[in-house]
Amino acid sequence: MSQNDLMDKLVSLAKRRGYIFQSSEIYGGTGSVWDYGPLGVELKRNVKDLWWTTMVHQRDDVEGLDASILMHPRVWEASGHVDSFTDPLIECSNCHRRFRADLPEVEGGQCPVCGTRDAFGEPRQFNLMFKTFMGPVEEEASVVYLRPETAQGSYVNFLNVQQSARKKVPFGIAQIGKAFRNEITPGNFIFRTREFEQMELQFFVEPGTEDEWFEHWKAARMEWHVSLGIRPEKMRFVEHGPDELAHYAKKAVDIEYEFPFGWKEFEGVHSRTDYDLSRHQEFSGKRLEYIDPASNQRFIPYVVETAVGVDRTVLVALIDGYREEQVEGVQRVVLGLNPKLAPIKVAVFPLVKKDGLPEIATKLHQELRRKAIPSFYDVAGSIGRRYRRQDEAGTPWCVTVDGQSAEDGSVTIRDRDTLEQVRVSLEGVSPWILERLSAPE
Ligand code: ATP
Repeated sequence: MSQNDLMDKLVSLAKRRGYIFQSSEIYGGTGSVWDYGPLGVELKRNVKDLWWTTMVHQRDDVEGLDASILMHPRVWEASGHVDSFTDPLIECSNCHRRFRADLPEVEGGQCPVCGTRDAFGEPRQFNLMFKTFMGPVEEEASVVYLRPETAQGSYVNFLNVQQSARKKVPFGIAQIGKAFRNEITPGNFIFRTREFEQMELQFFVEPGTEDEWFEHWKAARMEWHVSLGIRPEKMRFVEHGPDELAHYAKKAVDIEYEFPFGWKEFEGVHSRTDYDLSRHQEFSGKRLEYIDPASNQRFIPYVVETAVGVDRTVLVALIDGYREEQVEGVQRVVLGLNPKLAPIKVAVFPLVKKDGLPEIATKLHQELRRKAIPSFYDVAGSIGRRYRRQDEAGTPWCVTVDGQSAEDGSVTIRDRDTLEQVRVSLEGVSPWILERLSAPE
């Protein structure tokens, strides 16, 4: 299977099984925005819940926040986004299409769309922020932006969170939320889209301790990806060289994954100095200092940030889990998602549609749901086909109710990956599953 084939197969599986659909598909689709279907929304929620548990619930030094998407326009001047969140673009003098100036297709000066030679003038900077208007008047004074990252909401609320939650530095603010970027070259399915979700931590530290915290978060974030079952050999750290660092960064490392289209970033860990809080202090005129209660020392904290895309993590999980194999002479497609990520945890099948088996199976299915275990009931088609559908959907376990179940109240649980089947009592099914879902990696 070639790597391009893999992406095509994944896009088609995602649609067929209800993971991801093209946005506004019946109108021909919208550029680089995607909708999450019944299974996709569950996978995405599981990714976010696992991040939140690790980053907020399991730590004493991180608080959550949900800031709004629309912010005061000065925020984006202070952050540097109005001036520097840009890509250089060139425009074709004939068809007026715009392209990123650094793309290989436009290097010879010929327009890749209409073919005009010497088509381009000097590149111009194009800002990636989406603009809109607040209030009824569409004028320059009412321009606001859709946030291109969640981080700024955490900076402007630094003192609100620190004081209300009575935090001492070092501590962090975690957020999950939508971000928007008018990307010029989006693509590769949900890898780069114009509307996406981020999971970001801004960790505030005393100046001088940022290097230690940077190392801490670098390791912690890699550990989290490994805990999702992503193959460690498919991930690596890539440190930014001095000429690649963003204007605010002292140090930056990307966590990259080997996608079918190459090694690419899916998380960034950045040591941002006091750039963000100092700029907001300067632009707002409000002090954003922290006063150390022990020493009475005042300082503007340094920030270590971890920033990862929800959608990109979903893509990594899908790619990493996808496999095709032969089982007893039959080809099967498996989405080998970690059970913690899997949208459906268990499928329940009566072997046949008679002899009271559907009743037993339905009762078990309802009991599993009552215990908050996402369960799927299926009577349609041969048992083999029912297994295949669940393999493709990423469901880790299938329970079959057969003739013996009616006699002794036992059922089989089949494992998606090993294909092993164990016999368990009906009452034993939910504890068996819960035990495996709570097991550490
Ligand atoms: P890139 O170099 O890929 O444009 P970036 O360095 O601008 O990304 P950050 O601003 O550090 O990315 O954003 C943090 C994370 O948010 C990225 O690692 C990625 O997972 C996610 N992300 C950023 N832009 C997009 C996008 N357009 N679509 C989907 N996810 C994105």
